[in-house]
Amino acid sequence: MKYAILADIHSNLEALRAVLEDARTKKVSGYVCLGDIVGYNANPVECLEVIQELGCPTVRGNHDHYCSHNDNLNGFHPLAADVVDWTRRQLSEEQRDYLRGLKYVDRVETFTIVHSTLDTPEMWGYVFDKLEAEASFAYQATSLCFFGHTHVPLAFEKAEVVRAGLYAKIRISLGKKYFINVGSVGQPRDGDPRAAYAIYDLLNNEIELHRVSYDYRVTQKKIIDSGLPARLAARLAVGR
Ligand code: ZN
Repeated sequence: MKYAILADIHSNLEALRAVLEDARTKKVSGYVCLGDIVGYNANPVECLEVIQELGCPTVRGNHDHYCSHNDNLNGFHPLAADVVDWTRRQLSEEQRDYLRGLKYVDRVETFTIVHSTLDTPEMWGYVFDKLEAEASFAYQATSLCFFGHTHVPLAFEKAEVVRAGLYAKIRISLGKKYFINVGSVGQPRDGDPRAAYAIYDLLNNEIELHRVSYDYRVTQKKIIDSGLPARLAARLAVGR
């Protein structure tokens, strides 16, 4: 079994299609989505349809949460609040229902999936350092957990101590725990504008990060044409 692990798609249909095409050529047999299907870019409806059609295990991201609830957006970054407001108006009531039904944490075969952290998943904390990873590891019942939210593909490994680093390929060894970020499909923030996702090969116990080029100029044009903030278009070209 080979899973494509997708996170932070963020309404970027061009990036999502490119990643799914790449995953097909690499012969994956299943898909997993770590949340934030919507938000930031201009195709929330279409991206949600694609994920629903895949019918894959999916957990709730903060944008999925706020775009499907009517909570007020005080304390939100103004740029993010504008887009949440815009996205709420695009989604159908059925789509909002689907997003509201997503769990914070789920289990797929032998591994766990979450959008933010396992210690307080509904608080939407970011895991960038070992201390934050340590807090999450305390609640991790499986050897392996995939997460998203930071849009930066960082891996944490816990044996005696926690180690952290960027990765291209990881071989899972027995007796250790892994908390692995697969990067972002639709809005990478590690300085590489290409879409990111990972493939987990359960037979070989290997996780490999993949980067896929796509025509972000099409995505940028849609953002501008939809009246969404121009900064959201600009950042796609630089991966920030
Ligand atoms: Zn996100």
